[in-house]
Amino acid sequence: MRTKAVIGIWLSAITLAWMAVLPADLGVSPLVDAQGAATGWWQLRQQAVYLSGLWSIGLMALAMVLALRLPWLERPLGGMDQVYRLHKWAGISAALAALLHWAADESSDWIKGLWGRAGRPAREAVLPWLTDARGFAKDLGEMAFYLLLAMVAITLLTRLLPYKPWRFLHRAMPLVFLALTLHTVALMPLTFWRLPLGLLMGTLLALGSLAAVWSLAGRIGRAHSYAGRIHAVQVLGDGGAAAPIEVICALPALWPSHRAGQFAFVRFDASEGAHPFTIASAPGSLGRSDAGEPLLRLVIKPLGDYTRTLGLRLQAGQRVDIEGPYGRFDGRGRRQCQQVWVAGGVGITPFLALLEARQPGAAPAAATLQPVHMHYCTRDAATDPLLPRLRALCAQAQPPVVLTVHGDAQGQRLRPEDLEAIPGPLDIWFCGPQGLGNALQAHASGPRPWRLHRESFAMR
Ligand SMILES: Cc1cc2nc3c(=O)[nH]c(=O)nc-3n(C[C@H](O)[C@H](O)[C@H](O)COP(=O)(O)OP(=O)(O)OC[C@H]3O[C@@H](n4cnc5c(N)ncnc54)[C@H](O)[C@@H]3O)c2cc1C
Repeated sequence: MRTKAVIGIWLSAITLAWMAVLPADLGVSPLVDAQGAATGWWQLRQQAVYLSGLWSIGLMALAMVLALRLPWLERPLGGMDQVYRLHKWAGISAALAALLHWAADESSDWIKGLWGRAGRPAREAVLPWLTDARGFAKDLGEMAFYLLLAMVAITLLTRLLPYKPWRFLHRAMPLVFLALTLHTVALMPLTFWRLPLGLLMGTLLALGSLAAVWSLAGRIGRAHSYAGRIHAVQVLGDGGAAAPIEVICALPALWPSHRAGQFAFVRFDASEGAHPFTIASAPGSLGRSDAGEPLLRLVIKPLGDYTRTLGLRLQAGQRVDIEGPYGRFDGRGRRQCQQVWVAGGVGITPFLALLEARQPGAAPAAATLQPVHMHYCTRDAATDPLLPRLRALCAQAQPPVVLTVHGDAQGQRLRPEDLEAIPGPLDIWFCGPQGLGNALQAHASGPRPWRLHRESFAMR
C-alpha cells in the first residue's frame, strides 16, 4: 500500500512540476489541421517523450537513494524490508516508464508514415554547452535503456539467473543511472530547467548521482557496520544436512544494540558479501562475553548454496561484520486488537527474540505488551530442533503467549480460515514462506479485515 502511495505521489509531483513549465497552448488540437499536417500529433508525441522520460529518471533516482539503506527511512516506510520493496518497485516502474519513453520516441515513424513530416516541431534548445552532445546522449540513453530492461527482466524472472550472479550484475545499476542522468541533462529542453521542474529534477538527479557514486565506491552501510567475532557456533538438532546452525556473535562496545525482531546484514566472509539474518535474541538476553562484548544470536537455516556451507566453515574466533540493526518487526499493535503471531520454518527467528523480551525480568517495556496467540508451522513437529526452546519461551512469556504448533508431517497445516476462530479484530505478525504469507494476505482483505504485518524474507 505504502509502495503504491509513494510511487503515486512521486509521479504526481513530477507531473505537476512538468505542467507548471508547459506553455499555455500546447498546440495539440487539432491533431491534424486543415492542410493535413499532423502538428497536434507531433506535439503530443514530443510531450509524451518528455514526460515519460522525466518519470523514468525520477523513479530511478528514487530507487538509487533507497538503495543507500538509510535508517531514517525505516519509520515512514515501515522497515528496511519495505524500503527494499519500494526500491524494487521504483526500479520496475522506471523501466515501464522508459518503455513508454522509447515507444513515444519510436512513434515518429508511425506519424511520418500516416501524415508526413509537416508540422513536426523544431528541436528544442537544450543547455548550451551540451548542444553538440545530443547524438552521443541519445545513443548512451538507448544503450542504458536496454540494460535497464534486461536487469528488470532477470530480477523478475528469477529462474533466469541465480541470486549471486544477479547481485553481481545489479551492482552495475549505478552506472546505468549515471548514463541516463547524462542523457537527461543533455536532452532536457532549456525551458524545463525553469522553476519548479528545474529545481525538482536538478535535486533528484544530484541526489541520485551522489547515491550512485556512494554505491560504486562500496560505501553503502559502512557507517552502521561493526567488526565482531564468532563467540560460539553449534549445529542444532540431529546435525543433518537440513539442520540449522546457531551462531553467537560478540560485538564491540560501540554496537548500538537492537530491538527484538530486527535483522542485520552479516558478513562472515569478505569474498561472499553480507547476507540478511534476523537477530534471534532479545537485547541483553545473552549477556556479555568475558571481555565485556555484547552477545547476540543468529539462527541460520541451510536454504541456499552459501548457507549450506556455513556449518562447516564457521568457527569460534572468526571475524564477523555486522551491519545494522534494521527493521521494525516489533510485534506491537493496536490495544483494541488481538495479537496473532504466525511463523513458518526459519521465520521463527524474529519471534524467538520477541519471546525472549517477554521472559521474567527481561524487558522493562513488558507492561506495554499484549497477550498473543502464536501459530508455528514446521515440517515435522517431532524433530524440529527449535521447538523445545520455543515451547519453553512461550510457557514463561509475560504477557502470555498461547502456542499452537502445525506440523506438516503430522497433517496439521495451518489454513488462514483457522485464524477466524480467534475473536475480535486481529493484528497479525507474519514471518515465513512466501506462499503462506500470500494466503494470509489474500484473506486479510476478506469479510473480516485483518491487519497483516509481514516481514519480507526475499530481497530480489
Ligand atoms: C530480513 C531478512 C531476515 C532473514 N533472517 C533469516 C534468519 O534469521 N535465518 C535464516 O536462516 N535466513 C534468514 N533470511 C534468509 C537468508 O538471508 C537467506 O536464506 C540467505 O541469504 C541465503 O543465502 P544463500 O547464498 O545460501 O542462498 P541462495 O540460494 O544464493 O539465495 C537464496 C535466496 O536468499 C536471498 N539472498 C541470498 N543472498 C542474499 C543477500 N546477500 N542479501 C539478501 N538476500 C539474499 C535471495 O532472496 C535469494 O533468492 C533472512 C532474509 C531476510 C531478507
